[in-house]
Amino acid sequence: MEEAKTVSRYELGMIGLGVMGRNLLLNMADHRFPVAGYDRDPAKVEAFLKEGANHDVSGSSELPAFIALLKKPRAVMMLVPAGSAVDSVINELLPLMDPGDLIIDAGNSDYKDTDIREKALYAKGIWFMGMGVSGGEKGARYGPSIMPGGRPEAYERVRSILEASSAKVNGEPCVTHVGPGSAGHFVKMVHNGIEYALMQLISESYDLMKRGLGLGNRELERVYKDWNGKELSGYLMEITGDIFGRKDPETKKDLIDEIKGAAAQKGTGMWTSESAMELSVPTPTIDVAVAMRNLSVLGDERATASLNFPRPVSVYKGDSDEFVKKLKSAMYGSMLLIYSQGISLLSVASSHHGYGLDLEAIARIWRGGCIIRAAILEDIRTVYRRSPSLPNLLLDPVFSKIVFEHQENVRWVATESIKIGIPVSAFLSTLSYFDAYRSEWLPSNLIQAQRDFFGSHTYERTDRKGVFHTDWDES
Ligand code: NDP
Repeated sequence: MEEAKTVSRYELGMIGLGVMGRNLLLNMADHRFPVAGYDRDPAKVEAFLKEGANHDVSGSSELPAFIALLKKPRAVMMLVPAGSAVDSVINELLPLMDPGDLIIDAGNSDYKDTDIREKALYAKGIWFMGMGVSGGEKGARYGPSIMPGGRPEAYERVRSILEASSAKVNGEPCVTHVGPGSAGHFVKMVHNGIEYALMQLISESYDLMKRGLGLGNRELERVYKDWNGKELSGYLMEITGDIFGRKDPETKKDLIDEIKGAAAQKGTGMWTSESAMELSVPTPTIDVAVAMRNLSVLGDERATASLNFPRPVSVYKGDSDEFVKKLKSAMYGSMLLIYSQGISLLSVASSHHGYGLDLEAIARIWRGGCIIRAAILEDIRTVYRRSPSLPNLLLDPVFSKIVFEHQENVRWVATESIKIGIPVSAFLSTLSYFDAYRSEWLPSNLIQAQRDFFGSHTYERTDRKGVFHTDWDES
């Protein structure tokens, strides 16, 4: 038995048996793929072998021994922290690999690093894929959404193992080869940007119902569970309902009230905003979601400022039930506008980076397994099936009709929130995005005039073609 385990026959090897690596590897083993694991920490290898004891698994905490377990040409996946750990794993692997072997970076790497790594490794005869995985610990264990990028031939080598271990919606696997080079990591980055914006929006709805309407945690639990049953349904809504029902085992109080309001981040939201700015794509709600996480950690400053500006928030005086009804519709409208922003970034990046993204396929693989999975994605998929090269969802007549039906409630909620002093930057930014995007005229002519006034930057005219400059000092 021991000898059989040392034969080079394992189809895939995983480096990094942390939260994601261990669970994804066990998931692959569940689907009857012989797989091997490596971690620097022998205890993690032992724990993996124990958990996978009923499957065809092996592992080692020695890299050469681990590599010797793998079938040639080898497929090695890594789930280690983004950044220098990925480079250090690649450098350790290189002397042990042969031309034609495949390395897959399945962590949340910066897509720009992925492009550099792919080119450098390809020059050495090693295949490299940057792959996004979403779904957290449970998703990795029981079926994540998987966004692999890189050369299509490389994808074909691991296609069956990825399809088997991904989430399924109506029998369709939530994985597809999204595009060449860094496409997989770019799509995962935008997924996370959308996730940031949705989480900010949901947290604002919580604030409105808690401080604005005075609802308690039991009522909040009921509202979010009710919302999750309808068109708003999705993973984030589902876990939000569960969170309000959870008690702290130590204090026996509601756990949510024991958690400090300082939101952490690992950078993917910021990268999405940066990339959007680089490509001149407006994604204001993702930008504001990053900004609000940054503001949330300024706890001491906020505490001091709260003394300078007493009683900033007042309670809503109208009908609470009516407010919650309108808030639900506003949530839906704003969520549609968040997906519109994120997917418009994918559309521009697809041509700019030569990814050739199939937006229908991306909506399809986001319907299951991932953190932003939601009923809305089925409708978004239908839009892109109808019009594959649509630059923005707001240009689709059916989708825009739905947004239009809900935008009045976004406006109503935003107005009432301003009156009672509750910060709702996600709602406000989706509304302004909508109002600006649907406006044929914008006041940017004044900006052009100002630029030409102080910097002779020139401007274009509405009545004729060409570039013009005015001597503004001349009266
Ligand atoms: P963990 O911290 O749980 O695990 C990371 C693993 O990487 C550990 O086993 C660690 O080994 C190993 N490691 C770290 N540095 C090195 C190195 N230099 N050489 C070799 N091994 C190393 O992280 P996660 O599993 O949560 O995350 C892994 C990746 O997946 C990250 O890129 C993350 O952003 C991404 N991701 C995480 C999600 C999540 O929900 N957690 C969801 C989607 C993606 P050791 O035991 O020696 O410390």
